[in-house]
Amino acid sequence: MTNLVERSSALEEAPAASTPGPVHPTPGASSALRPLPHDAAELTAGWLHDWQRVTLGATLPHVLDRVEQGEARSNLARLVGESDAPLTGMFFTDTDVYKAVEAVAWASSRLPVDHPLLVRAQALVDLVGRAQEADGYVNSRVQGDPAVDRWSDPQWGHELYTAGHLLQAAVAAARTGSLPGTLEIARGLADLVVALFGPDGTGRPGYVEGHPEVETALVELYRLTGHAPYLETAALQLHARGHGWLGADRFGSAYFQDAVPVREATEATGHAVRQLYLLTGAVDVAVETGDTELLLAAVRIWEDLDATKTYVTGAHGSRHRDESIGDAYELPPDRAYAESCAAIATFHLTWRLLLATGEARYAAAMEHVLHNALAASTSVSGTEFFYSNPLHLRSGHGGEHEDAPTQRLAWFTCACCPPNIARLLTSVHDYLLTSSSEGLQLQHHASLTADTRVRGAGVRLEVESDQPWGGTTRVVVSTADEQSWELALRLPVRAERWSVTIDGQPMTGVAGDGYVRLRRSWAGRHEVVLRVEVDVHQLTPHPRVDAIRGCVALARGPVVYALEQADLPEGAVLEDARLRRVVGPVRGGEGAVAPVLLEVEVSLQRPHETALYSSAPRTHDDGVHVVRLIPYHRWANRSPGAMRVWLPLADPSTA
Ligand SMILES: [Zn+2]
Repeated sequence: MTNLVERSSALEEAPAASTPGPVHPTPGASSALRPLPHDAAELTAGWLHDWQRVTLGATLPHVLDRVEQGEARSNLARLVGESDAPLTGMFFTDTDVYKAVEAVAWASSRLPVDHPLLVRAQALVDLVGRAQEADGYVNSRVQGDPAVDRWSDPQWGHELYTAGHLLQAAVAAARTGSLPGTLEIARGLADLVVALFGPDGTGRPGYVEGHPEVETALVELYRLTGHAPYLETAALQLHARGHGWLGADRFGSAYFQDAVPVREATEATGHAVRQLYLLTGAVDVAVETGDTELLLAAVRIWEDLDATKTYVTGAHGSRHRDESIGDAYELPPDRAYAESCAAIATFHLTWRLLLATGEARYAAAMEHVLHNALAASTSVSGTEFFYSNPLHLRSGHGGEHEDAPTQRLAWFTCACCPPNIARLLTSVHDYLLTSSSEGLQLQHHASLTADTRVRGAGVRLEVESDQPWGGTTRVVVSTADEQSWELALRLPVRAERWSVTIDGQPMTGVAGDGYVRLRRSWAGRHEVVLRVEVDVHQLTPHPRVDAIRGCVALARGPVVYALEQADLPEGAVLEDARLRRVVGPVRGGEGAVAPVLLEVEVSLQRPHETALYSSAPRTHDDGVHVVRLIPYHRWANRSPGAMRVWLPLADPSTA
């Protein structure tokens, strides 16, 4: 590890050029691409811009309300005599505080210093500081319960997981220069973790915990501080896992991600969020230590996930019982668990794989999950959320349980998702552009401005894009630099036909690897226009996905569509609707649930009889109707009601 120590001291001396974002590999990391700084790009219009604005204006104040009024704050406040409330809630209630603080920190560059969000987040940080013990330890569920010893419940205690979220909040605060004190608190706890579980740790040998998260957080804290023991401890935690040390308990070792070392694993398994957070940390450790074998293992596991265990919405996790990924092709639409946090974790993981490899398939996975599973998690109002994201809500579904409700809820007993959504969306503009020695890459199409540097020279990008609803992206490049470099535009999901012009002249960009690559001197001001045909695609599932055989899903660009009860004729039962043909996209118009809807023709196939099983013909045709599908991510924004993504075909022989 000598090289790490040397590298870290060089880092500590390096002047900070700008504000790094959530993931910032060190200059020595084996990373094909680099993220742009947090303050380089700003969303200016469109779908993602509007969502980020709702996050700032509605989601974040709502999350802070709930954190301040609930056990997340009171569990900490009672430690310092500022609350009489009983100790309550999940083992990781502190993480609601940390995620909210992180969300505010990433938003801080767009807020005046006395903005109420910053004032409220600072009060939470100060409270954590008062609750912290002299040796750096802080965890309200352990400190608040005299019957519980520190590090006594590695299966369920979530102490390292909770620490990880504090570290990530501190990285955000330190990089943005906001919320003073957060980094000092976090380093106090991180140093304690290193002293116990680091290279010369005095804690229990082999200690790992049931929920990965601290690995990726320690790596980012290393990237911020240059302090090598954080990276070494992350690597140790990663390598200690997978040997059954945690035991099986009721869900088995795979649930805890402790059945097989990451390096040896061949498939994605166990609790979805834990698997994805673990892989996120694995990629971070791999690129910082030059561990190609570990990176390839993460790629291998992601490929298994992508090929056999991913919902058409980009979601992961088919089982409610243990929140697990499920077997290959076990993708039931109505019983999908598809936790919002798993979608967030997928976004985190695929961004790191994109940076590490430069391969477009990871950006495509990000685009897919962002526009479907992730976007569905939050209401248009920004203050209601899904924990679970099924692809089919049955007619008559009870919907009283918070893991499978009929509509989004304001908060949850296990409140992991809402603040997680907030922290991702306040930093989502950090995930749109990358740079490399070749030039700049537009990874996601959104209207934005970006001021950055290519080979030391200043470059300004002004992007106007009507995606995901339209297919035109206009990029104005301004620079005084005479050098030749490459502007790469990633082709969006399902963009099979495209054309590109520079200053009005048709170009033949190369797109064999998913990017239109344009190399030239950009000196002056030049306009690139990429037009893609946004077609409606009728998707059929792999033949082994039994639960949806004979069905199709409709997608336009990255957006997957769904049929909702509210769009059926009165009295019709959603499950009776069979797709006859696609009429085509239509503009949503004033007050519509989305700018572009899909018109389709369905027949209603009513059952003849009530018998559950019968040898007689089952249905009769009860009329043909033209109805409109809405983007899946907009469902349950009008009224509670049945919904489905996978539509049975009127003629199943074409599926
Ligand atoms: Zn969650």
